Amino acid sequence: MRHGILGIAPWRDQLHEMGVRAAAKAIRNHELTVTGLCRGGMFPAWDAAGRKAAIEDNLRAVDEAQALGAQCLVLVAGGLPAGSKDLAAAREQVRDGIAAILPRAREARVPIAIEPLHPMYAADRACVNTLAQALDLCDTLDPENEGGLGVALDVYHVWWDPQLEHGIARAGKRRLLAFHVCDWLVPTRDLLTDRGMMGDGVIDLPRIRSWIELAGYKGFHEVEIFSELDWWKRDPDEVLETCKDRHQRFC
Ligand code: ZN
Repeated sequence: MRHGILGIAPWRDQLHEMGVRAAAKAIRNHELTVTGLCRGGMFPAWDAAGRKAAIEDNLRAVDEAQALGAQCLVLVAGGLPAGSKDLAAAREQVRDGIAAILPRAREARVPIAIEPLHPMYAADRACVNTLAQALDLCDTLDPENEGGLGVALDVYHVWWDPQLEHGIARAGKRRLLAFHVCDWLVPTRDLLTDRGMMGDGVIDLPRIRSWIELAGYKGFHEVEIFSELDWWKRDPDEVLETCKDRHQRFC
């Protein structure tokens, strides 16, 4: 597939609404690059049947990512199954889930990008919460760094981490599969949908960018701003123009 200068990261529910084939065609026609398909993961479940269903869903996600020519499948690990307090078990289930889909993903040439999420999401979204933890998973499942497994680095989730610079260097070019930018607003009014436009918050974006470039990352910068209270209410053209402008000035 040709890669355009503009990328999109489709969500699977939108993709299913449109149909994978129709979406792939529209993407080709507009010469867009699919930076990543969002999202696989959500592995932990209360029982074996639930875990099996999650793995099957992830295998479908791999097929969809392949059909779209996505540069990676972004994994949001999943949190605690309802009623559970066993975070360690949930983390083992995530490891086992990724192990179960990795061979198929490699066959399909769909790199798996584990996205560590800010610890505030550990219960309900992702129990992989630091870059180091995501890289440990990569090292466990792909000890020789054969490729096809790495991380999606989202500044919103990792900006606070005192080990971030070290982690990015440790990840290196082969494990850095995606880079998501936005900003951290002070105060944050909603845990999920109050992300800021670059430049409106406290994340030192140029510094983080310098670290990923030092590590050899040459991929897209994906602007990812969940913003129920502000940007989702505005005219999309204005939002895109602002993204372009802010990316040039603040990233
Ligand atoms: Zn992200």
